Amino acid sequence: MAAPLHVDAAGLRADLEALARIGATPAGGIDRSSFGDAHLAARAWFLARAQRAGLRTRVDAAGNHSAILGGGKRAFLLGSHLDSVPGGGNFDGALGVVAALHVLFAVAGAGAAPPVALEAIDFTDEDGTLVGLLGSWALAGALTSDVLRAPRGGREALLAGLERAGLREQGLYDARRDPAQLAGYLELHIEQGPVLERAGAQIGVVTSIVGSRSLRLRFHGEANHAGTTPMGERRDAGLAAAAFAVATESLVAREFPGAVATVGDLRLEPGAFNVIPGRAVLSLEFRAAEAATLDRLEHALLVCARREAEARRVDLEIEPVGRWEPTPLDAGACDAIERAAERLGLRALRMPSGAGHDAQALAGVTRAGMVFVPSVGGISHDPRELTSWEDCAHGADVLLGAVLELAGG
Ligand SMILES: [Zn+2]
Repeated sequence: MAAPLHVDAAGLRADLEALARIGATPAGGIDRSSFGDAHLAARAWFLARAQRAGLRTRVDAAGNHSAILGGGKRAFLLGSHLDSVPGGGNFDGALGVVAALHVLFAVAGAGAAPPVALEAIDFTDEDGTLVGLLGSWALAGALTSDVLRAPRGGREALLAGLERAGLREQGLYDARRDPAQLAGYLELHIEQGPVLERAGAQIGVVTSIVGSRSLRLRFHGEANHAGTTPMGERRDAGLAAAAFAVATESLVAREFPGAVATVGDLRLEPGAFNVIPGRAVLSLEFRAAEAATLDRLEHALLVCARREAEARRVDLEIEPVGRWEPTPLDAGACDAIERAAERLGLRALRMPSGAGHDAQALAGVTRAGMVFVPSVGGISHDPRELTSWEDCAHGADVLLGAVLELAGG
């Protein structure tokens, strides 16, 4: 068997460094919010870089930017995103897009063009300044008018952003691709967590993207005088909510390894030094890799909330506010990524992704896989975000090996 192909590691680094200068912040990170000047400049850089290397380029009706090698009716997509959260780091998204370009360069250089086109794609608004996964949902044909009517960044910001980028709201739907024209999707991304670093692994093989549910819990007790009401006679909604918040930690640690639960907000009413809280409103979010685990975890959390409410003679009201199903990634893609890592002598670890990615939109329409590389200290969405150049190159090499196998090159 021939030795595995490699990307040009020095070129990959030089391009990532060039990109990191676009939207650079004094803190050493980047600020490339969707459709802001820096984001549009980064996208222009991407097209120019691809054209300089002799690749065809295109921009679709959702603003997704592509560089294409080879022809044919079907395309194998390699992507990620060039937008960032405000005050983000230099690797989230950027690594996947630049590595995709370098995979195309390496394939072109080796004359190893597979029977389908290879397309490096920069998806629009992944990180959610405006909508989140906007470009990839549009390409997958899963964008809904509900989402566009009430986007998380506000409707005015979305319309203004589309205008800046020369896009039309109605046109976004035209970015949909016929799934028959898609040969697959692979994405290289930084892990954004500490698992690979702790395990001493160089490559993460992402088996699924976790699902999440969010609930608002309202504890209704009785507000009363904080000086004259004896401790044993209180119906303290604040204590019930606090006891529940503390109990979630041990419940997850004890019975749901790998899952996470977070009480991200807790408000007490009326909210005064000298009044026992009559009402407590708590925001609960939990995530797990499998739907069955999410079901069991939800049940266990609610049993726990009812127990704490009962113990303090407080009523409990439960309002579901959000639900994302887990997205399993393609088993064949996972195997191909694992084999590619093995051929390169890299230590790979199968793991779920705790964060959302464009791959979850693509998984609905084509076989999709993801490669993770370690994040130093597990830090992300921060200027300190860092992945070693060696790990970046390893990830790109694995992407290259896996796509050659899956695309039949
Ligand atoms: Zn990302």
